[in-house]
Amino acid sequence: MVTSADELARYVELTPEERAGFAASEQLFRVGLTPYYAGLMDKQHASCPIRMQAIPRAVEADIRDEELRDPLGEDSRNPAPSIVHKYPDRVLFLVVDRCGIYCRHCNRRRLVGGDEPPTTSDLEAGLDYIARTPRVRDVLLSGGDPLLLSTRRLGYLLGRLRAIPHVETIRLGTRLPVVCPMRVDDELCAMLRLHHPLFINTHFNHAKELTPEARGACERLADAGVPVGNQTVLLRGVNSSVRSLRALMRGLLRARVRPYYLFQGDTVIGTDHLRTPVEAAQELYRGLRGWMNGMAVPMLVLDAPGGGGKVPIVPSYIESHDEQRVVVRTYRGARIEYPQPRERDCAVAYDDIYFAGEPADDDSEPCR
Ligand code: SF4
Repeated sequence: MVTSADELARYVELTPEERAGFAASEQLFRVGLTPYYAGLMDKQHASCPIRMQAIPRAVEADIRDEELRDPLGEDSRNPAPSIVHKYPDRVLFLVVDRCGIYCRHCNRRRLVGGDEPPTTSDLEAGLDYIARTPRVRDVLLSGGDPLLLSTRRLGYLLGRLRAIPHVETIRLGTRLPVVCPMRVDDELCAMLRLHHPLFINTHFNHAKELTPEARGACERLADAGVPVGNQTVLLRGVNSSVRSLRALMRGLLRARVRPYYLFQGDTVIGTDHLRTPVEAAQELYRGLRGWMNGMAVPMLVLDAPGGGGKVPIVPSYIESHDEQRVVVRTYRGARIEYPQPRERDCAVAYDDIYFAGEPADDDSEPCR
């Protein structure tokens, strides 16, 4: 792991601003990245998207009143150690506190860094909570980066989760295909195969990260039957242009990765300089929708501060509507009328037959 300015200076010529960033971040959020990722940096230009994601800037210390340590309100939704239960039918299982890179935009910077790893009893308590909570249909392993666990340890946890009858799907959130693609080896893929249905969401933010090695990692996962999705964070000056986003999304599809979310930046401390105005995010989205294969277009969302959950902030393409017609604006700007149907009742009569005897979903608030 590259952790200091002196070590990084072997890869790039650091600017005074970057050196000042190292000094300013000492008390705020650790620096760390893999040698592989450092090797992708542009040696001359500090505006390189790899450098901007990995190297702190002094402005990180300029914390604004509205910035939060826990922007997603996770710390108040912990029914068990290592569990965040925010949405009705799924939980976040924080199984490790280390990452392969400490991203300057990270919304979980308060938790990651390797100082207080979850203990075995924390993980057991998390597994126990999931096992005794039947409403949990889906578990997202995150942290930190779960692929930093040994293959054996990760396989053990996945096996325990798979043994819980009501857990239908398991997801892993990982940045290792981006920053350490060699971690995705045959042994890991063989283990993952045993635990389907299993999904991976990774986190590419720029086409420059889609190296042959990274694409190979994604393809190995796909070959192991793991659908791979991508969550991009919109970062000012890193990927906040239509050209950059189109190249990234198209490159992801070529690597068999489905763009999933495009996140508006969270209000986490020390990241104001990396956030885009919401109107700019919507304008960027307009540059994607319709201009590319729809599978390449991620959902633009904002994670509501305080734990409200993800809210789509896709711009509206509806100009007006009533019971007779809807007027839409196409991606090319044309106004077109869509006639409404005459019948307005959408109830499905067969639901009562097909779902007879099945309890309805429990949509109440899971944690207070
Ligand atoms: S890999 Fe994910 S959890 Fe780790 S620092 Fe980056 S964004 Fe945060």
